[in-house]
Amino acid sequence: MSTDIAVESIRKRYAGTRSVVSRFSLAVLLFLSIMGFPYTGCGIARLLCSLAFCLILSTIVNSRGVKRVLSQREPTQEEMARLARIEARLESAGIDPGQIKWRIGDLSYPACSVGRNVSIDEQVFHDLPDEGLAAIVAHELGHVHTGLWPFDRFFELLALTSTIAVATPYIIVQAILGRFREALRAVLGLFSRIWQWPQELAADDYAVAHGFGRSLSASIRILTAGQEEEPGGSHPPVGLRLARLG
Ligand SMILES: [Zn+2]
Repeated sequence: MSTDIAVESIRKRYAGTRSVVSRFSLAVLLFLSIMGFPYTGCGIARLLCSLAFCLILSTIVNSRGVKRVLSQREPTQEEMARLARIEARLESAGIDPGQIKWRIGDLSYPACSVGRNVSIDEQVFHDLPDEGLAAIVAHELGHVHTGLWPFDRFFELLALTSTIAVATPYIIVQAILGRFREALRAVLGLFSRIWQWPQELAADDYAVAHGFGRSLSASIRILTAGQEEEPGGSHPPVGLRLARLG
């Protein structure tokens, strides 16, 4: 595949539309949260309701998250052979990849990680060169290195739930005024700035410290070319990241 076609296919993919899967998941979550209301006297049910409410709100804003989880699969043998090369490249840069559990999926994001479970978008996996892919994985392992897995994920969920709970009256007032999406984006944007951006920048710094600054920067440029940035995103603005990556 030529570079032009590869970039074009990535752009198309990232133009993104809501999938049937995410709409279905949204309907299930809505159903669960409505069913949970009569039982809100029970602590666990209340917690589940809060989580479902949180998931619904974040699904409305970014329905790709659900699709991301449901689409993942084990890598094929051929893909594993390439991942072994990526692991060797990371080791040569002084990063211990440890026991990574690899997943490939239709993520609409280049990659994501939960501890050492690293998932890579299928299109990105096949279109980026080895060095670009290694740089993205270095960033993901930066999360493992700089975070406190699994506590960081637990606190993230807790922080997100609390932020939305505190901001609910504001969101309701704005919704009455016809500005629901804007209000939700503002709240999630604030959450991202306080909670997620520092972690993303720390993961970038980790990649830079191991010599992946330029290749990570090149990968981000390819993956974000022609895209408009959404306000309230989980990652810092592309301009800020590129400036720091050098
Ligand atoms: Zn990250």
